[in-house]
Amino acid sequence: MPAVIKDLRACPFDLPLIEPFIIATGRKDAANNVLIEVELDDGTIGYGEVAPSPYTTGDTAATCIAIVEQLRPLVVGKDVRQWRALLGQTRRAVRHQFAAHSGLEIAVLDAFGKATGVPLYEFFGGVSTRVESDYTLSLGTPEETAAAARKAVAAGFRKIKIKVGMGVATDVARVAAVREVAPDAELSLDANQAFSPQAAVELAHRIAALGIEISLLEQPVRRDDFTGMRFVRERAGVPVGADETVFTPEDAIRVVREGAADVINIKVAKAGLLGALDIYSIARAANLELMIGCMMESKVGLSASVHLACGLGCFTHCDLDSVFLLKPFECDGGYSLLGPVFNVEGHGPGTGIALGKQ
Ligand SMILES: [Mg+2]
Repeated sequence: MPAVIKDLRACPFDLPLIEPFIIATGRKDAANNVLIEVELDDGTIGYGEVAPSPYTTGDTAATCIAIVEQLRPLVVGKDVRQWRALLGQTRRAVRHQFAAHSGLEIAVLDAFGKATGVPLYEFFGGVSTRVESDYTLSLGTPEETAAAARKAVAAGFRKIKIKVGMGVATDVARVAAVREVAPDAELSLDANQAFSPQAAVELAHRIAALGIEISLLEQPVRRDDFTGMRFVRERAGVPVGADETVFTPEDAIRVVREGAADVINIKVAKAGLLGALDIYSIARAANLELMIGCMMESKVGLSASVHLACGLGCFTHCDLDSVFLLKPFECDGGYSLLGPVFNVEGHGPGTGIALGKQ
């Protein structure tokens, strides 16, 4: 039975944050997201969502909606079961535009899953049904950071990611303050490109000198400074992660060639689902570890990342905490949550997301 795409829609999807989210590249008070719907001829709707990030991906909600509208003639009338051919065409028609492609790919694969009766985590491999997320702490004073860490521990989080980039001395004090209130938590750091290679190494050494173990130092230096990433990797004594450095499979190949990272942070919002699968294969073949991250997606978009993480089952670092930072947006399907653990079982085909009439 054919499953022809009857309509493709994109509209603004604004979501308030519980508290402002502050990192080295900027501050966010709300998520100005985009909801994407792929409707099949039998009324089935595949849902996608992206959280454009002007300073990370170069997208805004308005550019994302405009690109999806431009791609509409390539999508409407196609059979969703030929999803790879279809999405290859849309990728070739408009280069880059990570947010638009990502949201479209989530919606198309959700529609495909719903049309064929396959949950996405099974489509991706069905390795696991659960994944445990960390919780991310914004930039702030040592006292503010420790207070946020205390809350995260009380909520059941066992892994805490600390945004850094306030200067080596301040960041060391913040990490020490977190360790004091979260003695058993696994700690990782994310600098969002804030440091020079030398400062990043100094930060890692000063934290180690306090006897505090760090599981990962994510994106210590500028995204295009591959030499600097390798410099940190060779001297810091902690695994180095590439996030902003890797948007595309080609970026991942360069990280491998230049020995620039130990871990690649895959985000569906950067690479789309197609790019994420390619980057996964490159990292696995190169014996690099994998992290999965997110932007500020609600449950609608985050479900695709959760299903990908469960289906592939190979992510040693999971940073899928946007839904804990946004004011609750509830809808059926996707996953269920127990503390920091997502469970994708029993939510139906595709991502299982069901919004009903908006
Ligand atoms: Mg990051």
